[in-house]
Order: sequence, then structure tokens, then C-alpha cells
Amino acid sequence: MAYDFDLYVIGAGSGGVRAARFAAGFGAKVAVAESRYLGGTCVNVGCVPKKLLVYGAHFAEDFEQASGFGWSLDEAQFDWPTLIANKDREINRLNGIYRNLLVNSGVTLHEGHAKIVDPHQVEINGERFTAKNILIATGGWPQIPEIPGHEHAISSNQAFFLKELPKRVLVVGGGYIAVEFAGIFHGLGAKTTLLYRGELFLRGFDGSVRKHLQEELTKRGMDLQFNADIERIDKQADGSLKVTLKDGRQLEADCVFYATGRRPMLDNLGLENTGVKLDRKGFVEVDELFQTAEPSILALGDVIGRVQLTPVALAEGMSVARRLFKPEQYRPVDYKMIPTAVFSLPNIGTVGLTEEEAREAGHEVQIYESRFRPMKLTLTECQERTLMKLVVDARTDKVLGCHMVGPDAGEIVQGLAIALKAGATKRDFDETIGVHPTAAEEFVTMRTPVAG
Ligand code: FAD
Ligand code: NDP
Repeated sequence: MAYDFDLYVIGAGSGGVRAARFAAGFGAKVAVAESRYLGGTCVNVGCVPKKLLVYGAHFAEDFEQASGFGWSLDEAQFDWPTLIANKDREINRLNGIYRNLLVNSGVTLHEGHAKIVDPHQVEINGERFTAKNILIATGGWPQIPEIPGHEHAISSNQAFFLKELPKRVLVVGGGYIAVEFAGIFHGLGAKTTLLYRGELFLRGFDGSVRKHLQEELTKRGMDLQFNADIERIDKQADGSLKVTLKDGRQLEADCVFYATGRRPMLDNLGLENTGVKLDRKGFVEVDELFQTAEPSILALGDVIGRVQLTPVALAEGMSVARRLFKPEQYRPVDYKMIPTAVFSLPNIGTVGLTEEEAREAGHEVQIYESRFRPMKLTLTECQERTLMKLVVDARTDKVLGCHMVGPDAGEIVQGLAIALKAGATKRDFDETIGVHPTAAEEFVTMRTPVAG
């Protein structure tokens, strides 16, 4: 049977755009449907605008520290609407770039909500198109628990478009988004409280990293409340919010921001017309080739709930396009040693196993750890300290994990990820000559294990 398209991609986000462009580049006839915004979450309400706001928040520290270097500034003023308007302009520019990327690579772009009507057919804007394969790349959506008053809370989707900076913000959650946005609000001058339901935030990150960030954020005056969860939110006559915690305490805020994870975006997608199966958590179930239970339908990115990061969605998109249309170049996605950063202030950068994971996996570990005051701060009052940590297998000398909390941790860990991917040993680190004077050189000069 002749199909309208070889591949019909639903969702022009990180994974969908990558798969569509590569597939078209390999000569396939490809369409991509997008209901909301070109570039998806990352470009519009994720990585990119988030990083711009983090840069904005960082200026507060820069101004504070400048006096140590002889600069005197009048009292700095911050204007939220200017930051948001400039951010919006940049995102608009990127949307245009994504449009051109798709069109120039020969992909047919359909703007509207796509619904699967049968395993080889998609309906969009009242028209139906057939495809040999359909790729679900519809991403995720913020999930707010349905506590009384949850309608008064916002998620990251709204935070990027607030008309003004709230004076008092309660951030709920202890993952990437909660920690990053708490840093943004706090840095920009809002009185910020972070509420996390467990003992210590950033579950799954290395214990030293979690503790170190807790200490640093506390030093900066952020109010961190662990073992705390909200029971209800009530709007008061003056528009402010009264928040009642499960332990009975009450807090007041102008904005309650929930960052409690993301669900797969499957709304009105028509999965009931297919044999696609969902996993236990409701994400689309796929095998190692990103095939769903319906042979003609594939899925990747946040909607499959594996690793919700843009570079992972990109790698999955590329792998699918190659397997379908350039099999001689096919390579499976390797989920080991995925580096990641949390753009908190200070940043976290990490790759490989945490100390806890390494011990759990039965490695005999050697731990190297260094805490120091970054050189840039020595002329300032700032008491921030940087943490660097290496987790090494004592038997093979292989470096299993690198972890950092400090300025530019995300930038530094990218290079380390290559070393770990190539199987670097501690001896390779030791024999690598440092770049002086940098913070990063500490990773090649730690000599004495702190724990074995
Ligand atoms: P998405 O990018 O979400 O794209 C899905 C697209 O599908 C959307 O454009 C949506 O509108 C469209 N769509 C959905 N349903 C339909 C339909 N039925 N018809 C047509 N179109 C549809 N990752 C990082 O690596 N680094 C970061 O710093 C980072 N920061 C983040 C910050 C925030 C606040 C958030 C929320 C996420 C962040 N992420 C970050 C995660 C990253 O954004 C996602 O992992 C990535 O965008 C997933 O790509 P995707 O292609 O799976 O989905
Ligand atoms: P995460 O899964 O990272 O964190 C969710 C947090 O919310 C956890 O601390 C979790 O606690 C808590 N939580 C979950 N449910 C509830 C509940 N019902 N009540 C109270 N707390 C709850 O999700 P995020 O929303 O922060 O981010 C989604 C994903 O997006 C990330 O996992 C990441 O993959 C990606 N992302 C990446 C970024 C980056 O690369 N820099 C930045 C932002 C997002 P507990 O730990 O106890 O389960």
C-alpha cells in the first residue's frame, strides 16, 4: 500500500524534530505535527528559558561580589517584565529557527493537534494522512497533586509568563525543577521557601552533593523545609495564599509553585484506536528499538518516561531515524554515563555512579573529595564553597562517577563525561595535566582518598 508519508511524527519537540529532520535527510517522506509550539518543552517552557532566568538570577551575586574587585555600583534594580519580554523575544526567534530547520530539511509541517485514528492513520485539522510508521514524541506535562486549593498553584508552564515577580514564593518538590526555580526566585529577590516531602531533596543524586547544596542554599538565606508537605491552599481576601501543611503549620505566600514531576502527554491522542500499551506509571511502553506494542507505532522522549532530558530525546530521535531509514548507520542509545546538570545556584554537575549506587552495585570504592573556596571569591565576603568528588573502583582503578557543586559545574562535567565514557581510570586523571588556575583542575589533583 502506498502511504502519504513514510514517517508521521507527532510532536515537534526535542525528540520529534531530531527524528523528523534526520529521517527526511535520509530520503524519507516525513511529516511532523505540532499543536502548541515549535521546539517543544525545552525551547518554550524548559531548558532554554529556564537557563536565561538562571543567568538573570546570577547577576544578584555578581553585583554583590563586584565591590571586592573595586567596583562600586548604585543599588541594583531588577525589572521582571523586561527579563520576561527579552526572554520571549529570544524564544520567538528560536521558534522561527525550528520552523526553518524543518522546512529546509524537507519535512512537511502540520500545525494542530494530531490524533491517531488507526495504526497507520493520523487526523489533524479535519484531514487524515496515512503513514507507514507513526512516531509518538508528545513529551510530558507538569503534574500537580489534587489537594484542596491546587487550582491556586502554578507549575513551570505558568512561571515563565508571570506578569510580576511574586514577593513570597513557596516552591513544592525536591527535584530538578523545584531546586532550579527556587534558585531563580531567590536570586531575583523573592522571599523563597522550598518545601520537600522527604528528608533531603534531590533523591538519586550523590549524598555529598545533596548535603553540600543544602548547606550552600541555607547560607544564601533560602528557607529549606524538608519533611514538609502541603495539605491545602486557601486564597485570602487580599489575593495572597494561606498554605496549611500536613503537620498543621500555616505559611503565607503570593505564589505556590509545584514542581512535583511530569506525566506523559497523551491527551486525546487516540491511543484507544491502537494496540499501544502503557507501563505501570502510565508512560508509553517501548522495547529497546522504541517500538510500542503496535508494530507500526514508535515512541521516544519524555513520553516513554526513561530519562527526561533533551540530549537523551535527541539521541533517541537520531537512533530511530537511522534504524528506519539508514540501518547501516544504526547504533542503539547508550543510557550509561549520561551527564546532567541541575542549574541551581550554585550548579550541580554529575556523571556516572553516585557513591551510594557504586556501593549498592558491589564495587569496592575509593572516594576522593575536595571542598574549597573558589578563587574568584577570595576578594569577596562570599563564603560559598565548591565540592568536587570522584567515586573510584578500588579494584580496577576505573572512575565510576564525578560529582560537583559549584560555578560552571555543568560546563565542567561535560568533558569529564567523555573521559568516563572512554573508561578513564584514576591514574588517567592523575596523569592529566591541569589547567591552572581553574576550579576544574581540582578534578585531576585529588590524591588522597577520604573514604574506602
Ligand atoms: P517535548 O519537548 O515536550 O515535545 C513534545 C511536543 O509535542 C510539544 O511541543 C507538544 O506541544 C507536542 N504535542 C503533544 N501532543 C501533541 C499532539 N497530540 N499533536 C501535536 N503535537 C503534540 N532537559 C535538559 O536536558 N536540560 C535542562 O536544562 C532541562 N530543563 C528543563 C526545565 C523545565 C522547566 C522542564 C519542564 C524540562 C526541562 N528539561 C531539561 C527536560 C526537557 O525539556 C525534556 O526532556 C525534552 O523537552 C523532552 O523532549 P520530547 O521531544 O520528548 O518532548
Ligand atoms: P522530578 O521527578 O525531578 O522531581 C519531582 C519532585 O517532586 C521529587 O522531589 C518528588 O519527591 C516530588 N514529588 C513528587 N510527587 C509529589 C507529591 N505528590 N507531593 C509532594 N512532592 C512530590 O521532576 P521535576 O518536575 O523537577 O522535573 C521533571 C524532569 O524534567 C526531571 O526529572 C528532569 O528529567 C527534567 N528536567 C531536567 C532539568 C535539567 O536537566 N537541568 C531541569 C528541569 C527538568 P520524591 O523524590 O520524594 O519522589
